[in-house]
Amino acid sequence: MSRPIQARIDLDALERNLQVARRYAPSARIMAVIKANGYGHGLMRVAEALADADGFALLDHGDAVHLRQAGYRQQILLLEGFFTAADAELAAEHDLSCVLHSDWQIPFLDNYPKRNGLDIWLKINTGMNRLGFPPEQVSAVLERVGRHQAMHSITLMTHFANADTSAGVASQLQRFTDVAGAYRLERSLANSAAVLHHPKSHGDWVRPGIMLYGSSPFADVSAAQLGLRPAMTLSSRLIAVRELRSGDEIGYGATYRADQPMRIGVVACGYADGYPRHAATGTPILVDGQRTRTLGRVSMDMLCVDLSALPRANVGSKVVMWGEEMPIDEVAQAAGTIGYELMCGVTARVPVVTGD
Ligand SMILES: *Cc1c(COP(=O)(O)O)cnc(C)c1O
Repeated sequence: MSRPIQARIDLDALERNLQVARRYAPSARIMAVIKANGYGHGLMRVAEALADADGFALLDHGDAVHLRQAGYRQQILLLEGFFTAADAELAAEHDLSCVLHSDWQIPFLDNYPKRNGLDIWLKINTGMNRLGFPPEQVSAVLERVGRHQAMHSITLMTHFANADTSAGVASQLQRFTDVAGAYRLERSLANSAAVLHHPKSHGDWVRPGIMLYGSSPFADVSAAQLGLRPAMTLSSRLIAVRELRSGDEIGYGATYRADQPMRIGVVACGYADGYPRHAATGTPILVDGQRTRTLGRVSMDMLCVDLSALPRANVGSKVVMWGEEMPIDEVAQAAGTIGYELMCGVTARVPVVTGD
């Protein structure tokens, strides 16, 4: 018998969530964002489920090559572009598109060994202040890069800081349009939140990530309300059950004390599996399909749950930490984080299965 924890990936949910993105952005092409090992779901598995996407975006050059070698023919975009001059040769060899976000990357174009081969996504900083050229430099950069013999096409892109909040995208969209309006180049702006809430920002290519995995980018709108289905279910089982007396405490730091006799269960899942250690007592969790709560501190390999309302739960009972019937966003909120971080944080020791 192996340890009962597993992450089940629902390929059908991924495929359907892609269709949801298409319904929200019917006139745009979809650059499916599969960085960070497909947001923790497994790169090749996710690519296969999302094979209908018009492109794939990620950061790791090795992963991009792997996708190309597996036969994917759609555009593959490196979201941080070149890191070194040698990356230009790699991009040529495997036909990878590159974000160009900073001056220091421009000389690397000279290393690109083909004429008219390179597709660049020129990133404009419209307010995020992370990557991208300032709007006032864009014409000069286009002047330099546009005539470069390596160049095949240029897409203008930007990234929103507040597509998921009430601050919205208006000012960034305006700054972008002020620049892009002067050129007949394709445009890409929208992450999941903008795909869902800001249709005016869709442009030619949208770049959904989190929504494809069935988590909501919004704090106040659930994935289910958006028509999204969770692609990952992290489950395990109870490996011990015990009766506490009034006054008994649970776990490291004794942060929970029973104020009456109660029944608790011990789940084979801890922070070394990727369950957030900052999930406090009261974080929702499913046992035998019924909602209950965690108790005390999450430890490396285990966490404890309240079985007061689950008299029939016992060793072997199935526990769902997140996924089907237990939205990852609720767990994330209880742990002071976001669904993205939980998905990406499932560790290598957790076996991954697909299907039912
Ligand atoms: C990660 C990322 C996305 C996807 O964002 P989501 O919020 O997951 O939809 C889009 N564009 C860029 C540049 C990104 O880095």
